Amino acid sequence: MRLTVIGTGYLGATHAICMAVLGFEVLGVDVDAAKIGKLAAGELPFFEPGLPELLTKALESGRLRFTTDFREAGEFGDVHFVCVGTPQRAGSDAADLTYVDAAVTALAPHLRRRALVVGKSTVPVGTAARLAALLRELAPAGERVELAWNPEFLREGFAVDDTMRPDRLVFGVTSAWAEQRLRAAFEPVLAQGVPVKVTDLPTAELVKVAANSFLATKISYINAMAEVCEATGADVHDLAEALAYDERIGGRFLRPGLGFGGGCLPKDIRAFAHRAEELGVGQAVGFLREIDGINRRRRARTVDLVVELCGGQVAGRRVAALGAAFKPDSDDIRDAPALDVAATLHRMGAVVVVYDPAAMDNARRAHPELAYATSALDAARDADVVVLLTEWNEFRDIEPSAMAAVAGQPRIVDGRHALDPASWRAAGWEYRALGRPVVQ
Ligand code: NAD
Repeated sequence: MRLTVIGTGYLGATHAICMAVLGFEVLGVDVDAAKIGKLAAGELPFFEPGLPELLTKALESGRLRFTTDFREAGEFGDVHFVCVGTPQRAGSDAADLTYVDAAVTALAPHLRRRALVVGKSTVPVGTAARLAALLRELAPAGERVELAWNPEFLREGFAVDDTMRPDRLVFGVTSAWAEQRLRAAFEPVLAQGVPVKVTDLPTAELVKVAANSFLATKISYINAMAEVCEATGADVHDLAEALAYDERIGGRFLRPGLGFGGGCLPKDIRAFAHRAEELGVGQAVGFLREIDGINRRRRARTVDLVVELCGGQVAGRRVAALGAAFKPDSDDIRDAPALDVAATLHRMGAVVVVYDPAAMDNARRAHPELAYATSALDAARDADVVVLLTEWNEFRDIEPSAMAAVAGQPRIVDGRHALDPASWRAAGWEYRALGRPVVQ
């Protein structure tokens, strides 16, 4: 069975590489010729632990190739995975489906024999049925081209493990043949005992946005508690720990702080709320607007804490921003809370010096107005305030006394509850964290 993977970004490149390592012949397809050139040369265009080694291995095996040619893709593949982006539409909460539509429209005229097209991108419910009709209309093989949906749950930073051994697979299908093809395409994964849920197209589309909505809700829930803690002198860190002992609640995604960002959660909950409104069931998920609002307020509150520590105004003050990526172990800066906070402080007149272990190039491109350092200590040099914005392990390992020796003022805002307040205070730091009481 030969596979094509259309769209070779974070999701598609990972999927293509892992499927080739698992033994399939794979052709990766993208409209971005520079990206395809890099991948073909063995260079991963983004940071993902463990993936560069697998790219080399897959290329050496001869089973992985890349192209920008959709005709080649149509002729090559038995199963075509669609992994293109579905960002937020400019000026709207809706998902922008132009890339998905363009990919299917470009592939379809080259589908001359029986084939399965499998959507992996995150889309508003109802998209799959529309694309199935489009394929039937445009593909020379007509009814012999089927569409299935296989939503993707990988996490950047854990993308290889999540692809090789996901928590579950979801197959949205309209025929036994499509299910059988998907089972064959994922045979090496299923052989490890990974559970699979076979369902219809709309349910498969919904599983993804329902999962992301749940995760976003859990994060905003504890951050809402942080807001209440701030008004009462209670400690949200202790509150979260105490809640987590309840197995029905659990501690994962219950870490208070600066909140979620990235290329998925924020745009997915907005697109879901928007789609539900279109379907006349907006009220059912209206709470997602509040989840989004709580999340945005954490960014504003982090800026407030920095201002507070600077004595009420930041103009001309030096702020060390530790972190730029939306999460650790990634170079992805899409809707990154860290850069949002850094850019806001810059607009308020602060001199913001950013350091991130992996996302410096992306951050520089998106925010050339900010200053950049070569290490966390370099960023903290002469700083009036240090603010930790992405919880990289490298920042957890900082020696508080070493940073105190270079900082202008030993004041830190721990935007991710990543540090041990006692050891920072013992080294002379004024330590503040969202939802935690002030200790004089
Ligand atoms: P990305 O922006 O990194 O990659 C998208 C790729 O699609 C780019 O390389 C782009 O050049 C390519 N592309 C655009 N139009 C194309 C076309 N017409 N034909 C071929 N290629 C085209 O995005 P991503 O993070 O990989 O996300 C892709 C999809 O997967 C989105 O729907 C996202 O919500 C979903 N998803 C992402 C993750 C994640 O962790 N990144 C996890 C689960 C689901």
